[in-house]
Amino acid sequence: MFGDCDLCGKKTELVEGVVEGSILKVCNNCIQFGEAVEIKKSVLEEKSKPEKIKEEIIEEIVRDYSTRIKGARESMNLLQKDLAMEIAEKESVIHNLESGHLEPSLDLAKKLEGFLNIKLIVINKNEKVDKIDFHNASLTIGDLLKLNKDKHE
Ligand SMILES: [Zn+2]
Repeated sequence: MFGDCDLCGKKTELVEGVVEGSILKVCNNCIQFGEAVEIKKSVLEEKSKPEKIKEEIIEEIVRDYSTRIKGARESMNLLQKDLAMEIAEKESVIHNLESGHLEPSLDLAKKLEGFLNIKLIVINKNEKVDKIDFHNASLTIGDLLKLNKDKHE
């Protein structure tokens, strides 16, 4: 914006600044050498930190899935090929699962959980911290003045 500087009266391009608790329109010269603190967006961004916590739910396959599958199958007196038939998978899939060479997909794990009555999936909650977008943060003139005060202390 163009106008008269509130501090030195010069007609020039002006910026908004906080000077001793008031918001004034001042020139670049006054911002650089005077008491005025330019209201910069970066300062506001730093200030607007109310953080939102989002919870993310992650399903993971247990680490010892191979021993759990094998143990459950053997306790049911089933051969690998029997289990494969029961859950409509290839025998080689069961073999690879039990030898730990193949981590089951969530779908497959759920199928195995249901049939073998075991637990293969753990649910982890992840807390994600989101910074609130500057445009959504409500900053009042009071916040700005306090900001300026903090800077001088
Ligand atoms: Zn000035």
